[in-house]
Amino acid sequence: LMPFAALRPQKPDALLALIAMHRADSRLDKIDVGVGVYRDEAGLTPVMQAVKAAEGRLHAEQQSKSYLGAEGDVRFAELLMKLVFGEGQSDARRFGLQTPGGTGALRLGAQLLARAAPSSRVWLSEPTWPNHAPIFAEAGLATRLHPYFDVESRGIAFDAMLEALQQSRAGDVLLLHGCCHNPTGTQFTLEQWEALAALCNERDIVPFVDLAYQGLGNGITADGEGAHRLLDAVPTALVAYSCDKNFALYRDRVGALFVQTPTSDLGEVTRANALALARSLWSMPPDHGAAVVRTILDDGELRLSWGDELDRMRDRLNKMRVLLATAHPALTSVASQRGLFSLLPIAPSAVPAIRQTHGIYMPADGRINIAGLNEINLPRFVEGLLPHLE
Ligand code: PMP
Repeated sequence: LMPFAALRPQKPDALLALIAMHRADSRLDKIDVGVGVYRDEAGLTPVMQAVKAAEGRLHAEQQSKSYLGAEGDVRFAELLMKLVFGEGQSDARRFGLQTPGGTGALRLGAQLLARAAPSSRVWLSEPTWPNHAPIFAEAGLATRLHPYFDVESRGIAFDAMLEALQQSRAGDVLLLHGCCHNPTGTQFTLEQWEALAALCNERDIVPFVDLAYQGLGNGITADGEGAHRLLDAVPTALVAYSCDKNFALYRDRVGALFVQTPTSDLGEVTRANALALARSLWSMPPDHGAAVVRTILDDGELRLSWGDELDRMRDRLNKMRVLLATAHPALTSVASQRGLFSLLPIAPSAVPAIRQTHGIYMPADGRINIAGLNEINLPRFVEGLLPHLE
């Protein structure tokens, strides 16, 4: 018997192929705007100073690496909860569990929904992070797409989105990017967050907020404000949080799942089910990165240092956005978008052309990582791009 003979070949990972092509390009002035991590002016993705300091403390002070539990680092989730729900907002209807990255949080949330309401469907924006659909599908949930991006204004097609969601059924799930939408860089206004909360209540939809870039848009507080308002207004919600970008901890896989239920009794049962699922998925999340985040958030000095460095990262991104936006009228909206990503107004055929003429590496959909740009390479990037703008 050959059970694996039934498996289908998989499409090679397009981003990995892009990395390999970029590596093989010998041009010294090649530009990588593909890979989705923050880079500084010199093109590096450094370990943050507060992280280094926290790691030093852990190294000196940690007495044991014995198991924690399926919930991971409890203090970590408690501290993070204040960033997600606002200060003083933790109550018995809300709980948080540490997960392996934002991906782990999304998957655990998906498994929990599949166990609780297997016929619910998950609404995703078109476009969205390419891993969203497989995460929910592998958990056994059906997914639906709603319009999101308005190609003309390069902003959110909010009316079309609301209109499509009139097709939702009670119990369906609506996945929302908390800030810095991947791949478009768009963000909901506070009025739109309130309209979404009203829609969720009217149609009995469960919001699932994916907060993977808090602090990289307009700052920690501003980037959480939309989610705070939504979460305060609805009875039931999930939040998948990632610390991998805002603490630059990527490979250490730091995240958390937060769940809000209408009553504390329901919260207790839901938490017990989430823990049971976590045990079957990874038993316990990896400790190191969450211990680093906990150490930083629990210490005034480290917290300030982290906040300052995060501010500088965000300022650099937003400065590059302004510079790129002023290069051509078709790029104006780049300045008002936020986070690492923007979708360029170019035809798919332009992507290989720009790669060939200027050694500029981006995925086929024209999504660029703003952090790949700096004041040295920006003129060359613009020169390669301009002939192809639509
Ligand atoms: N959500 C979105 C929108 C993302 O872009 C990413 C990472 N690219 C994640 C979740 C997952 O982050 P993590 O690396 O922490 O799993």
